[in-house]
Amino acid sequence: MTIRVAPQRHVQPVPPSDVWQSLGDWLQRNQRSIRIAQWSVVLIYAILLVVPVFLPLPDDMAYLWSNFTRFAQFAFWGVWWPLVLLSTALVGRMWCGILCPEGAITEFVSGRGLGRAIPRWMMWPGWPTIAFACTTLYGQMTSVYQYPRPTLLILGGSTLAAAVIGYLYGRNKRVWCRYLCPVSGVFGLLAKLAPLHFRVDPPLWQQSQLSEIKPGAVNCAPLVPFRTMRGAADCHMCGRCSGFRGAIRLACRSPNHEIIHVAGNVAKPWETILIVFGLMGLAVGAFQWSVSPWFVAAKQWIAERLVDSGVVWPLEATAPWWVLTNYPQRSDVMTLLDGALLVAYVLATALACGGLTTSMLAFATRSLGLWQPARFHHLAQALIPLAGVGVFLGLSALTVSQLRSDGIELPFVGPLRAMMLVLATIWSGVLCWQVTGLYNRELGRRVLAISFVGLAMIVTDADWLLLFWVW
Ligand code: SF4
Repeated sequence: MTIRVAPQRHVQPVPPSDVWQSLGDWLQRNQRSIRIAQWSVVLIYAILLVVPVFLPLPDDMAYLWSNFTRFAQFAFWGVWWPLVLLSTALVGRMWCGILCPEGAITEFVSGRGLGRAIPRWMMWPGWPTIAFACTTLYGQMTSVYQYPRPTLLILGGSTLAAAVIGYLYGRNKRVWCRYLCPVSGVFGLLAKLAPLHFRVDPPLWQQSQLSEIKPGAVNCAPLVPFRTMRGAADCHMCGRCSGFRGAIRLACRSPNHEIIHVAGNVAKPWETILIVFGLMGLAVGAFQWSVSPWFVAAKQWIAERLVDSGVVWPLEATAPWWVLTNYPQRSDVMTLLDGALLVAYVLATALACGGLTTSMLAFATRSLGLWQPARFHHLAQALIPLAGVGVFLGLSALTVSQLRSDGIELPFVGPLRAMMLVLATIWSGVLCWQVTGLYNRELGRRVLAISFVGLAMIVTDADWLLLFWVW
């Protein structure tokens, strides 16, 4: 569902030609080199994904520098994932446009496929959020961070789906990335914070339409409408449109600009769900459950009730590795009770944290005046820095634990985590304050609104505090 509201007129002034514009033009001129980089990444990705499946599982003496499976695990979950998230917040979705293997494959296949029109059901904006939730849950059920087979199943399955969608729909396009990729929603949110973007200058665009020289066609693979592009969420930063009609250029901007001046133009309820229930709820539960004493207590309580009732099969029954973790040789087996509780814990965390944040956002919206859904969704966008940093810290916890298991301690991690959480909270607070100013100039109402959002942020910080410092 997309709710349209009146656009806010705010166009950043265009500075003279600069280093960023030159970089954008360089990307535009060097598409062949980008292709070579993309296919090199495809090759590395395939090796890291497939080879470990044919190797024996690493034992306790295996180090990431002496065992290929451990190395591949560390490369995927310890380095690749956290860095892709970080890079998206710093330089937009350049990973998607320049290096992503799935993007390269789906576009390549699309150039040789059936070229069918994109069906309407595929354009439903809820797919990225649903896909993110499903892959996060399924990844936890199968211990994707620890074992190569679920990694191949989830990442390889996603790549295969990208290729099939590319074969069926669009011509030289990235239909998969635009509408279905499980992480495109998260990347789109983080890209809104990037200080770099491809900027369209509307007056220059209009001027170019008066010219008799017609510009050549540019293939924007993720199907971004150039003329109306005002933000970086959908752009893959591939550089192909740099200089198009003399009106598009790579440019710097304030990291706050898109959230404050663009994100409120079109309210996107599915983005709100992704921020509030996904990143600030489901992801928290997914990172927490394995160390949560509440999980252990609940499991013990239920197990005792089951044994008292003579129903022991949920404590003994297991499932294949592609349903629930099942590696007896590593003494790592989930019973049906473990699996059911895991799913319940993650979903309950999503509902509890997401429900509370939603309520606080609703109170904040009401504090600023009459109820307006668009204002509610705009306030939710202010939480992106905190939501994004939380997920980054959760993922980088894998990096830290993998290094620690190999004897490499990172003593600065605790203070660094605390600093990132504090800065992200302040950043979200500043964004929220500025967004409230767009809707109401009364100081008292704005203070009340930000107090409600502040409560939601404190709860989110408390979740990460429990994970990193208490448990
Ligand atoms: S708008 Fe499209 S063509 Fe232009 S940089 Fe972004 S993804 Fe590439």
